[in-house]
Amino acid sequence: MKAVVVGAGLAGIAATWALQQHGYECVLLESSDRIGGRMKTTTLGKHSVDEGFHVLHTAYPTLGRWLDIERLNLKPMDPATSLITPSSGRLQTLGDPLRAPLLMLPSLFTAGPWNSLRMLRWRLKSKKKDLEYAMDHPTLSIDKGFESMRFSPSFRDTFLHPLFTGITLDNERRERTSFASFTWAAMSHGSMTMPKDGIQAVPQQLASHLKENTIRYDTKVRSVSSSEVELENGETIGADLVVVAVPQHIANTWLENPQQILRKQTATFVFEAEQSPLDKSRLLLNREYEQENQNILHVHVPTLLHPSSKHLVVATVVGEIASDHEKKSVQKAIHEELGQWFGQNAASWKLIGTTHVDYALPSGSVTAKGRKRMELVHAGVYYIGDHTTHPSVHGTLRSVERLLENLEISLPLRPS
Ligand SMILES: Cc1cc2nc3c(=O)[nH]c(=O)nc-3n(C[C@H](O)[C@H](O)[C@H](O)COP(=O)(O)OP(=O)(O)OC[C@H]3O[C@@H](n4cnc5c(N)ncnc54)[C@H](O)[C@@H]3O)c2cc1C
Repeated sequence: MKAVVVGAGLAGIAATWALQQHGYECVLLESSDRIGGRMKTTTLGKHSVDEGFHVLHTAYPTLGRWLDIERLNLKPMDPATSLITPSSGRLQTLGDPLRAPLLMLPSLFTAGPWNSLRMLRWRLKSKKKDLEYAMDHPTLSIDKGFESMRFSPSFRDTFLHPLFTGITLDNERRERTSFASFTWAAMSHGSMTMPKDGIQAVPQQLASHLKENTIRYDTKVRSVSSSEVELENGETIGADLVVVAVPQHIANTWLENPQQILRKQTATFVFEAEQSPLDKSRLLLNREYEQENQNILHVHVPTLLHPSSKHLVVATVVGEIASDHEKKSVQKAIHEELGQWFGQNAASWKLIGTTHVDYALPSGSVTAKGRKRMELVHAGVYYIGDHTTHPSVHGTLRSVERLLENLEISLPLRPS
């Protein structure tokens, strides 16, 4: 049996590994010259830098089923978020009281008792063994959901909205509340970690299980059917099984009833600094995000987890401004904004590069219920990837597990 898998991101690689181990003769077609898709680590200066702020949640049950976690050399971020009010320079902390009891008082002070109780209630409703549980029920859109959970307007504006803008990579947070509950459950029941060699180490580890010459690089697929794929260069490849693992905006063009797709963009501005402006590996979230001249959503310092010769200060933006990341005027504005956050120290930081991700996350109905967003099979072609489930590493791997369940193929066994 021959299988053609289109797209060497996390989903395509995982599926190819399982199919190959089950005896399929596989070819994995990738339009670019590298694997990993949106889980991408690049080199800026002498540093490995992830394209976009990307963490691996240890609470995802799929990680243990697919990955040798030890080999990733993961380091956990602090179980707290720092908040900055740039206009006053005020810094506050919001921590998980169950994992960082010492932060209970400062967190209570930041959020106030009313919001703290609601956060705790939201956490207690989550299920450690079933993070996706909330998706079984219809919910509202994220912002409406927060309103209905009765968080105060100022807590929503200055904490929940910026936090979930970062998670959905959309300034309007057009996602369902049940997805927010899923990520909240993942944050509550595990750590946010980063692999030593960057996020691309995750798809790379899976690809290390593939047979030699399985992947064809620089091979762009133009169209697909149940029995063959056609390449941009006109070549066709026949197959018994065709699996499409490309991002939503590409898959959409091959479907009979294409959906309306949102363009979600993010960029990072990466500075080299002698000293870290933060003392803990936390996300520093902007309480005044989107107010006048407040473009930076958050800042983090990955070198606090995996030390390097110099520190990296990474400022993240979301939305249209991301597409201007290479403009000198925008880079200057971001540097000046960091000066407002961190004072004179920021002036000596050197911009070593920027990263940009277009169509960073898929979009879908903001109210739909269910763990899957799309049928597995369309016109005889199998579709996997985050847009078929939900926009996360866990959702992506679940989409592959759904394919395997349907084909009655077991999960691949890692070499011991
Ligand atoms: C900036 C950012 C931060 C994120 N942060 C998190 C996070 O913190 N936690 C979390 O759980 N998830 C996060 N995610 C989501 C997660 O990275 C994705 O859900 C996951 O990587 C999707 O994998 P995929 O295989 O479905 O798609 P992709 O990674 O997009 O892979 C698709 C592949 O198909 C290839 N391709 C496209 N068109 C063609 C064609 N015509 N022919 C051949 N090949 C083609 C592409 O080049 C690509 O390699 C983040 C994503 C981004 C972008």
